[in-house]
Amino acid sequence: MNIHEYQGKEVLRKYGVAVPEGKVAFTADEAVKAAEALTSSVYVVKAQIHAGGRGKAGGVKIAKSKDEVKAYADELLGKTLVTHQTGSAGQEIKRLLIEEGCDIKKEYYVGLVLDRATSRIVLMASEEGGTEIEEVAEKTPEKIVKTVIDPAVGLQSYQARKIAFAINIPKELVGQAVKFMMGLYKAFIEKDCSIAEINPLVVTGDGKVMALDAKLNFDSNALYRQKDILEYRDLDEEDPKEIEASKYDLSYISLDGNIGCMVNGAGLAMSTMDIIKHYGGEPANFLDVGGGATAEKVTEAFKIILSDQNVKGIFVNIFGGIMKCDIIAEGVVEATKQVGLTLPLVVRLEGTNVDLGKKILDDSGLNITSAESMADGAQKIVSLVK
Ligand code: ADP
Ligand code: MG
Repeated sequence: MNIHEYQGKEVLRKYGVAVPEGKVAFTADEAVKAAEALTSSVYVVKAQIHAGGRGKAGGVKIAKSKDEVKAYADELLGKTLVTHQTGSAGQEIKRLLIEEGCDIKKEYYVGLVLDRATSRIVLMASEEGGTEIEEVAEKTPEKIVKTVIDPAVGLQSYQARKIAFAINIPKELVGQAVKFMMGLYKAFIEKDCSIAEINPLVVTGDGKVMALDAKLNFDSNALYRQKDILEYRDLDEEDPKEIEASKYDLSYISLDGNIGCMVNGAGLAMSTMDIIKHYGGEPANFLDVGGGATAEKVTEAFKIILSDQNVKGIFVNIFGGIMKCDIIAEGVVEATKQVGLTLPLVVRLEGTNVDLGKKILDDSGLNITSAESMADGAQKIVSLVK
């Protein structure tokens, strides 16, 4: 689960990680009030959306007076911000962070991520802060330094110190940088983060080490024990289709393509996406209806797929094991009755109760193209949506 920058900074502040003073605002008036509470003479008005790249997209404004704060707040609130992370649809700005302007001397990058190859948390840093870390990784990988953290002892201050020196934090500020990284690590562990990314971490003119941005991502499976984090959830930032899917316990992820996929089992779902791509198509979603799905669950899954305006055709690819083919067929028929179906539908069924499943589909009067194999089905749906 993602949270907003201002919420991330609230969490970090509790762990002794230095962040600028600031407050969230939902209206222009609140923005001015928030600015009045600050002691600085320069304010930064920052769009709060769950995506990075706001600076380049015009979502971070420097204001030199409270009037400018008001003007920028008026401009940004309600506006749809398109950054390289939002996709072309963009994201509407509903909240702002009004924060003190910092006198930036240099921008750095510090992040904690889970490295799946070593099954350990890795502290990553770079003196090339403020820009996309992916770009740094591609063009100048030598500018990224890393240290692997042993879970038994946690991040050691000597490791943090080594990293601070490696990214050329000024000598007299290394102590602050170490405290910063230790606090960040503590927050990461105690709050069950999956990513904690500070880009930029800055050194200021008056000799402070601070987080100017904060991107915290949390392990959804741990939210049951992170009630305070769960309170930060902002449904406006989530895909309504994914919210709907989570109510029915469906593993659903929206994608950019136009072929809706309904599959059982995560492995089959992934290989279905692969084979669609192999034949030149683009999947509109990842969807695993799970092993023990009921006809009701399948109906909901089908409705969610159909609610996506980009979907131009559907590929149902089911290997009936625990999940039986007739249940899937019933769900498909029920859902199409409820929402109507005008799009091409290709169905490949195999396994338990396959004949019964096929009969249910045949008797339904629906216009269904049946497929003999996964490859056959993928080819058929790709040519039907073209
Ligand atoms: P994003 O990563 O979404 O572009 P950031 O929070 O990193 O947003 O802000 C982009 C840039 O704006 C930063 O790299 C920094 O140069 C500047 N900036 C952000 N917050 C402040 C601040 N409080 N004071 C001064 N400059 C800031
Ligand atoms: Mg940033």
